[in-house]
Parts: sequence; structure tokens; C-alpha cells
Amino acid sequence: MKIAVAKGDGIGPEIMEAVIGIFNAAKLPLEYQYVDMGKWVFDKGFSNGMTPEAKEAIEKLGILFKGPMETPKGKGVKSVNVTARKTWNTYANDRKFQTLSGVDTVFSKAGINIDLTIVRENIEDTYGGIEHMLTEDVAIARRFITRGGSEQVIRYAFEMAQKKGAKRITCGHKANIMKLTDGLFLEVFNEVAKEYPNLKSDDVIVDDLCMKLVSRPDLFDVIVLTNLQGDIVSDLCAGLVGGLGFAPSSNIGDHISIFEAVHGTAPDIAGKNIANPTSLLLSGLNMLRHLGMMEKAVMIENALLYTLESGVHTGDFGDKSIPSVDTTQFAKAIIDNFGKQPKHNPKPALKDFEFIPTNSNIFENPMLLSKHHLAHKIVGADFFIESSLQPKEIAKIACKQETATLKLVTISNRGTQVWPTGSVYTNLVNQFRLRYETDASTSLSQSAIIELYSALSKDFQISSLEMLNMWGDKKAYSLAQGQ
Ligand code: NAD
Repeated sequence: MKIAVAKGDGIGPEIMEAVIGIFNAAKLPLEYQYVDMGKWVFDKGFSNGMTPEAKEAIEKLGILFKGPMETPKGKGVKSVNVTARKTWNTYANDRKFQTLSGVDTVFSKAGINIDLTIVRENIEDTYGGIEHMLTEDVAIARRFITRGGSEQVIRYAFEMAQKKGAKRITCGHKANIMKLTDGLFLEVFNEVAKEYPNLKSDDVIVDDLCMKLVSRPDLFDVIVLTNLQGDIVSDLCAGLVGGLGFAPSSNIGDHISIFEAVHGTAPDIAGKNIANPTSLLLSGLNMLRHLGMMEKAVMIENALLYTLESGVHTGDFGDKSIPSVDTTQFAKAIIDNFGKQPKHNPKPALKDFEFIPTNSNIFENPMLLSKHHLAHKIVGADFFIESSLQPKEIAKIACKQETATLKLVTISNRGTQVWPTGSVYTNLVNQFRLRYETDASTSLSQSAIIELYSALSKDFQISSLEMLNMWGDKKAYSLAQGQ
């Protein structure tokens, strides 16, 4: 099987050479097609950080194994890492965190074993980068959480948890505050959980989850989260097991998957042959498992664990009383330990399976749509206006624009209701939300909203409009704080 390999920038080529050396010594049935991605490709004028040939090769092969890459600063270009994840819709970021003998942490010293997988949604949330300034003082970001996008990543997490023999799968969320966005993610989690009755599933609010992870990480197994929360929680978990140098990362899509180290290009040590290849090697082992090469992955991982256990280490970790080795020597030590079993937590033997690529059968964009279709109606609109008047003065003007069907029900500022009731202690910014609603039995036309928009625009600078919808008997919008 052939895969695409991008060596990356900084320490990328050194650690990639070390890992491919280990793979070659293990006689893996893999061929490598090296592709051009990274800083020097940006410098050559390719604005997405990859050559068209690289893109074509990755799409043909379906698997990219990559080193860390630098995004040139101040040139207005987007990170090639993020572009790659989005272009190929690698919706699940799977990051494994395990106690490694020879890598001392407070937990390893206390005899607490960590074996955690964080699955982070990789496409949606605020990472769409859809941001606007509504007034000169007020910036907003759109947070997309979709049923289809949530289902893809949650289903992946359950499947992976089952394959891994996990005992527990947990949804981390903030649905107590973000009732619609995180609420949707949690709803999908609970629906998918019903299909996996043998797996214990539960949910924890993300702040509580962080507290529990730093006190009892051994109680968790697989945790699935939305993008931003997953981003933060996964770095927290890297800290639990000794830092980013020991945390592999897989970006899994339906057709193309990317395997990479979590750390960056380490420009401070680049070219010195002293970088630690463990994170990239662990990412490579995840790739072998993804490709069904379970036996070889277990053999190499046990050799790595044995090597770490015997005290061999690069300069960035380990027992300082034992001299460190360089990148090449570290890789050679692993190769020399092929076939050996570590004393602590050896990886159990697993059977190979056949990997069936699906990337060559894609001709149009897949649509992620709901299976159920509830009756839809428009019941009002939120108008976001710029004003530095007091709420009651705004209300006086806004009430004049009420129509037979649309009544002003609330005015809020930064989500807190300031009219018809509110508190003078609420600090105001120059951006208010006027909510007009009809009674729940009426369905409005879009033109009724446009007419109100037109009338209001004579009195206010409108910066944004949001429809108030209902699907079935459920309000598809949140209430203002205090409403
Ligand atoms: P970094 O991870 O490169 O370095 C942080 C510190 O950790 C440095 O002291 C470095 O020497 C050390 N370090 C990192 N990896 C190591 C390894 N394998 N062995 C030994 N020591 C290691 O983070 P940074 O300095 O914030 O970022 C540098 C560059 O990397 C930036 O251009 C950034 O955009 C890029 N980056 C790329 C990725 C990626 O490709 N996925 C991820 C993060 C950062």
C-alpha cells in the first residue's frame, strides 16, 4: 500500500527520517510518496502551503503522514495544517494519551495509570472563523454545531471505543449554558449511545471534566468533545502524560485521513538531530492501526515502551543522570528492541484486518441532512442594532414599529435582558438585540420580517438579523438571560 508523506519543516525531516527508518526495519508493507507541503512551499508562492501535485497525490492515496509545518507569520496565509484538515473533511481528531514508563509525571510517580483518548470534532464550532464586528466596539463569532457533523465525530468515537475495548465513553460539553449548540451535540451523543448498549456512556460538563481529569484521569477512557473545548482538553491531557512530545494525533475522515505529531517544528533545535521522534512515531502507529496493520503496530509500540522503560531518552525528557541520545540513536535503540516486551502495560496482540480505501469513489459533495422533517414556521426575528440610547428610549422607538402580528417582547444587551425589565447594574455596549415575536400559533412569511426590517432601518443602524424559527413544537432559539 502506498501513502503520502510530507516531512514538514524545522525538526520535521529529522523525526520523519527516524520514524520511516523504524518502519523500514519492521518491513512494513508500505510504500512512501513524498509530497511538497509546508513553509518552503508557501515561500514559493503556493498560498495554501501545498503544491497541486501534493494535493492530487494525497487525494489519490487517501492517507497523509506528516511532520510539523510552519505557517509563515504576517503574510495573511492560513495554516497548512488547518487547511488540510478542512479540505479533506477529517472531522475527528483522535489523540491518545498514555502513561509511558521512563516519562516521569506526577501521576506515574503516584502509580496512577493513564490511558485516555480524546476525540475532538475538527471542522465546526468557532473554527469556521466566521466573525464580524457589529459595531466598532463589538465583535461576534458564529459557532456552528450541526446534527450531521456531530453525528460523524460521535459515531467515530463510539466505533473506536468499541474497537479499543474501552469501558467508558464520555461526552464533554457545556449544554447547561449553550443549550442549543452544545445541547444538540449532547442530544446526538445520547441518540448514538443507544446503538452501543454494551459501552457505558455518560456526560460531564467541561469545567467539571477538567477538574476531574487533573485529579482522577484514570477514571476516564474515551472522551468526545466539540472543537474548541476538545482543543483545550486535549492539551490538558498532554500535560498529564508528560507534554506534547508524547501525544500522537490522527485526523480521521471518511475518505482521507492525516496522521501527525501534535507538537510544532521546534525551530530552536532544528537541524541538530536531538529532537524526540516519539510523538510522530506514536502517530505513525495510529496510522498502522487505521490501515489494519495491528501486529506490526503492537510489535513496534512494545519496542518503544521497552526502550523508554530501559531509560533511553532524548534530551527533552527522562532521567537526567543517564546521558541522552540523539534522534538517530533513539530510533536505532527501538529497532534493536523489536520483539521485546515492556514490564509495564505491554500492548496486547491484535489481529490484522483489511483496510478498504474509499477515496476514489467521490464525485460530488456529500450532504449531511436530517432524516426527520418536522413542520417549520417563522415566529419572529432578532434585530441587532447599534445604539447608545438607554433601553427604555430604544423601546419607545421600537414599539412604534410593531405590526399586527409582530410585537416587541424583549431587548437585551450582550444576552442580558434590559427591557421590559432589567437592572441598572447591567453594563451596556452600543449593540442591542430587539426581539419581535408573533404568537406561537401564527406562522410568519419572510416578507413580514423584511417589512419590519425596512421600517426599523429608518430609526436604527441594523447590523444583523436572525430569524426566530420553530421546528415542531420546539423553539429553535434561546431566551435572553432574565427573559
Ligand atoms: P513547538 O512545539 O515547535 O515548540 C515548543 C517547545 O517544545 C520548544 O522548546 C521545542 O524545542 C520543544 N519541542 C517540540 N517538539 C519537540 C520534540 N519532538 N522534541 C524535543 N523538543 C520538542 O511550538 P512553537 O514553538 O509554538 O511552534 C513552532 C512552529 O511550529 C510554529 O511555526 C507553529 O505554527 C508550528 N506548529 C505546527 C504544528 C503542526 O504542524 N501540527 C503544531 C503546532 C505548531
